[in-house]
Amino acid sequence: MQFDVLIIGGGAAGLSCALVLGSGLSKPFSEGKKVALFAHQRSSHLSSALLNNVLGISPGTAGKDVLNSGINQLQELYPEVQQITKEKVQKISFLEGGFEVLTNKNTYTSKKVILATGYAQPFLIKGLEDYVIPHKKAKPSKERIQLENVNHLVYPGLYVAGTLAGHRSQYAIACGSGAAVATDILTEWNSGEHTKVHDKIK
Ligand SMILES: Cc1cc2nc3c(=O)[nH]c(=O)nc-3n(C[C@H](O)[C@H](O)[C@H](O)COP(=O)(O)OP(=O)(O)OC[C@H]3O[C@@H](n4cnc5c(N)ncnc54)[C@H](O)[C@@H]3O)c2cc1C
Repeated sequence: MQFDVLIIGGGAAGLSCALVLGSGLSKPFSEGKKVALFAHQRSSHLSSALLNNVLGISPGTAGKDVLNSGINQLQELYPEVQQITKEKVQKISFLEGGFEVLTNKNTYTSKKVILATGYAQPFLIKGLEDYVIPHKKAKPSKERIQLENVNHLVYPGLYVAGTLAGHRSQYAIACGSGAAVATDILTEWNSGEHTKVHDKIK
C-alpha cells in the first residue's frame, strides 16, 4: 500500500498532525494525496492524564476521553485520512524517495513518515537506531529518549513530533508540534508557499 504521508502514533502529537493535514486535503495542491494514521493509542501518556491546565479543554477532562473524541473528530471531519487500527509499527526502512513501514500485520510504503510515538523507553521501532539520543528536556533519571532532528526533520521526508521530537511533556506542546509538522508538509505540497488552514465564521 503506497501513501504520501504515514503518521505513526495516535496520541496528542499524531492526532493533532492528522487533523491539520486532514483539513488541508481539500486544497487544490493536495489533490490525490494519500494520508494515513496508525491510530495506535494503547501506550499514550494521555491515557492516564487528567487535564486541568489546557486552553479550550474543560478542567477535569480525562485524557482517555480526548483520545476517543480525537479519533471520532478525525473520522467525522476528515474521513479521507485513513485510520489504520490494531497495527503497531515494528520497522522503518529507507528507500529511494521514501520509506517502507513494516507493522505486525502489513507492509506499507510512503513518501513521508511522521513519528509521534512518545519519549518512553525502550524505543522498539527498528531502523532508526542512528537517530535515537537521550531526551534533552526531561529529567536524566527518567531515561527518556528523542530522535535527533532540526525543526522536526530527522532526515529528508522523515519527521518527528511530540515528546519524541525533544519537547517537554505537556499536552499543548505535543499538539502544537504535530500541527507544525502538518503545516510544513502542506507548505511543501504548496510549492514552498507558506500554508495554514483556517476556518472562519460566516
Ligand atoms: C499521568 C500523566 C498526567 C499528565 N497530565 C498532564 C496535564 O495535566 N497537562 C498536560 O499538558 N500534560 C499532561 N501530561 C502529558 C501529556 O499526556 C503528554 O505530554 C502527551 O500525551 C505527549 O504526547 P505525544 O504525542 O508525544 O505522546 P503520546 O500521547 O504518549 O502518544 C504516543 C502514541 O504513539 C503510539 N505508539 C507507540 N509506539 C507505537 C508503534 N510502534 N506503532 C504505532 N503507534 C505507536 C502510542 O500508543 C501512543 O498513542 C500527563 C502525562 C501523564 C503520563
